[in-house]
Amino acid sequence: MTIRYVLQTDRLTKRFGKTAAVEDVSLAVREGTVYGLLGPNGAGKSTLLKMIAGLLRPTGGRIFVGGEPWSRESLGQIGALIEAPALYGNLTARENLKVHALMLGLPDSRIDEALETVGLAHTGRKRAAQFSLGMKQRLGIAIALLKRPRLLILDEPTNGLDPLGIRELRGLIRQFPAQGITVLLSSHALHEAGQIVDDIGIISGGKLRHQGRMDKDADLEALFMDVVRTGGREAGAR
Ligand code: ADP
Repeated sequence: MTIRYVLQTDRLTKRFGKTAAVEDVSLAVREGTVYGLLGPNGAGKSTLLKMIAGLLRPTGGRIFVGGEPWSRESLGQIGALIEAPALYGNLTARENLKVHALMLGLPDSRIDEALETVGLAHTGRKRAAQFSLGMKQRLGIAIALLKRPRLLILDEPTNGLDPLGIRELRGLIRQFPAQGITVLLSSHALHEAGQIVDDIGIISGGKLRHQGRMDKDADLEALFMDVVRTGGREAGAR
């Protein structure tokens, strides 16, 4: 069976002035998987995800979505939660979704679908400002799901969550491939991410140092340290 890629990048690069935040990154994200982009803080993860989500313009390289060159239309297939979700604190979960559904011209049925998926269907009149961090995060994911994306991008989704929140979110993320949604997430928390991903990409100093299947028995920490250390030497030698 041929492998289908929902997302590929070809030598994608982003410079801020003279600094390359992302340099020559060629990602390959298989359809129906959870892909973990792993790397320390400042590695370039958010910058990379923002280019794919159309929030930053690449300096060089190319992006392909479903095999087609990236265009504004590609965004119809991409749902993204990057940084903290922009929520209206004085509105309920349903009302928050209604605002986005109206903007996107989507029917109300999508709202119920998204609320069910993230487990917020029974939050009633509770306002978003009163939600726990985990609930806010799930509401942010619900917003990203409204347009039924093929690819869901989550930047550090478990950041700041307590262990229960992390477990809930992990369960939620694992369900997505079966619903036809491929997930690309970033994380600096190796152990945690290693438990839910099918494929990994390790990024440090703006470069993709390793990409491949996640081997559940492999010592991810050792691999990570090795790749990052080697990368650090390369970066230092420039
Ligand atoms: P990560 O998400 O892995 O923590 P980022 O993509 O946020 O990393 O940052 C990568 C590098 O790019 C960092 O050195 C950061 O300081 C730099 N950077 C990110 N955004 C900007 C910006 N808007 N202007 C200048 N430098 C930036």
